[in-house]
Amino acid sequence: MPDDDGAGTVREKVLDFIRSKKGHIADLSDVLRLIEAEGGHPGLLEEMAGDGAISVSGDSVFLSSESYLPKVRCLICDQRVDRQDLVPFFREKHFPFVSWGFHKECLEGGARDEMIASGMFRFEDGGVYPAYEYGEGKNPVTIAIRFLRSEDFLYTLELKSDKE
Ligand SMILES: [Zn+2]
Repeated sequence: MPDDDGAGTVREKVLDFIRSKKGHIADLSDVLRLIEAEGGHPGLLEEMAGDGAISVSGDSVFLSSESYLPKVRCLICDQRVDRQDLVPFFREKHFPFVSWGFHKECLEGGARDEMIASGMFRFEDGGVYPAYEYGEGKNPVTIAIRFLRSEDFLYTLELKSDKE
């Protein structure tokens, strides 16, 4: 009997589980719990990420196949973001990842610095997180967009790019 007997089954269950989630994105903790419950070995997730079946970003696990990815729009310019250019935006309370992010390019030219300086965003593990309060009736995306597309924010960026 090979050492990894049954691993294929756990792997399928993990993929099915992620597929069953909205946007094909699952919480990392839920996936780890599933692997443990199914008797999979702890390194399975890493192994699957290593061979490209899934991607792990922050606290989220998603299927790597492009066809499974939700369309992501940029919070700054509102255009669609391709996977390789994506800096994901995470909200932490209800759903770890929403279909919003940033073009790497849109964060250049001072935007990233300005966002950090504002105290409204945190940059961690290759993603962006809201550092402001939100909850009942307060959508973190709405708050982010209001700030990022405000005249003040855009004006500061313009001033910066003029100096360069
Ligand atoms: Zn953009």
